[in-house]
Amino acid sequence: MKCPHCKVEIACRCTVCPLCHVPFNNSEGALDAAKRLPRAFPPKGKAPFLATSRFDKIYLAVAANLAVLSFLLEFLITGRIKASVLIAALLFYIYFSIRFTIQHTGYFSQKVTAQTLALTLIIFFARRLMPRPMFVFEYLLPSLYILAMLIISIFILIKHKYPQHYLMNLLSIAALGLTPMLILIITKNCFYILSVYAAISAGIVILALFLFAWKNIRREFIRLFHL
Ligand SMILES: [Zn+2]
Repeated sequence: MKCPHCKVEIACRCTVCPLCHVPFNNSEGALDAAKRLPRAFPPKGKAPFLATSRFDKIYLAVAANLAVLSFLLEFLITGRIKASVLIAALLFYIYFSIRFTIQHTGYFSQKVTAQTLALTLIIFFARRLMPRPMFVFEYLLPSLYILAMLIISIFILIKHKYPQHYLMNLLSIAALGLTPMLILIITKNCFYILSVYAAISAGIVILALFLFAWKNIRREFIRLFHL
C-alpha cells in the first residue's frame, strides 16, 4: 500500500507512516489497509507457565543428584536424614526463587554475585546471634559459596558463547569459597566437611578458570582496573 500523505510504499503493519510520521486514519481506509500487512517483527510470545529452559533442565538434574547423594551419604554415615531434608529443600527453594524472579530479567550472574556478597556480610555480622558463632564458617558460608559457584557455572555452560562477562563473578565467589576453611584453620577450630568441600570446589574452579579462560580473565582485569 502507499501512504496517503507522502505516497511512500509501505510494506509492513504500522499505524504511522515511517517516512512522514503522519498517523493513518480510516477516512481513506489507510489504517485498515496497513493492518492487513504483515508484521515487521514477530509478536512477543508469552512463555507457558511450565515451559522449561536449558537452565531449568541442568539445574534440576544437578540438584536432584546432589539431593540423592546427600540423603545417601547422611543415611550411611549417621543413620538419619535430617540435614539432607534441609539441603534438598534449600536446593529446590533456590530453584523456584531463580525461576520466577531473577531469571526473568538480565544481569543474572551479577545478581547472584551481589546476593552472595550481601548474604556473606549479613551472615558474618549476625554470627554473634547464633548459639555457636563458628556454625557460620562450618556450614552456612560454605553452603552459600558452593551453591553460588554451582549456579554461575551452570549459567556459564548455558551462555558459553560469551563467558567473559561472567568469569569474574565466578572467580570472586571462588575466592570467597576459600575463606571459611582458612578462617577455621586460623582460629584452630576443627575442620568441618562442608568448608573443606567448598575450598576444594573453589580450588578446582580457580584452576579451571586460569587453565581454560586465562585470556578472557586477563582481558576483564584490564577492562575493569585499567592495568
Ligand atoms: Zn507518509
